[in-house]
Amino acid sequence: MSRRVLVLEDESSIRGFIVINLTRAGYEVEEAESGEEALEKLQRHPDICVALLDIMLPGIDGFEVCRRIRATNTNIGIIMLTARSQEMDKVTGLMTGADDYVTKPFSPAELTARVDALFRRAGGAPPEQVGEIVQAPFLLNLRNRTLEKNGQKVKLTQVEYSIMKMFMENPGKALSREEILDTVWGRDYFGEVKIVDVNIRRLRLKIEDNPQNPTFINTVWGFGYKWEF
Ligand code: CA
Repeated sequence: MSRRVLVLEDESSIRGFIVINLTRAGYEVEEAESGEEALEKLQRHPDICVALLDIMLPGIDGFEVCRRIRATNTNIGIIMLTARSQEMDKVTGLMTGADDYVTKPFSPAELTARVDALFRRAGGAPPEQVGEIVQAPFLLNLRNRTLEKNGQKVKLTQVEYSIMKMFMENPGKALSREEILDTVWGRDYFGEVKIVDVNIRRLRLKIEDNPQNPTFINTVWGFGYKWEF
């Protein structure tokens, strides 16, 4: 079964975000900026198994695209991309034949989980790459919450694992200590950002070739850290 997915979204930044994350999750992604283009791509690639449809579009809207797809195709999974203010869209979308909807802004994990669910329902096995981030020499297994370096298991605490996951999902991006604290410890955590540094120091001892001269977890002075591989 094909792993081909269609993404219809006219805003290129949102489309890019979706494409990157679905590609990383092991899907082959076809992109469309308009409803017309989406229908064209579906004709050209009848093996598309899941379609993500934005609603507000120039030309025909996402509901109309959904209606036209469903007129000839009952197998494909359809997810509507709705804005927070469009509460009605959920109902209308489901009535026009959509299987599910996600509300913007959504996280990569949420998006992938929804696509995986429809993909499985459509009869496919989940792609092998799902649940893994490979950035040589590292392999992060999201399902088992484990890390390998050069094929060797690195023993991590749950917090260290969460930091690694955040880094590997944001390669090359400077992450502030506060951002890391919020993501890993949660917004309710009122501890000091120092805890971030303590954990990073320990993480470096575990994953760097030379912890005194780290090359993967780089310090961004006065700000935070940056993951480079
Ligand atoms: Ca739009």
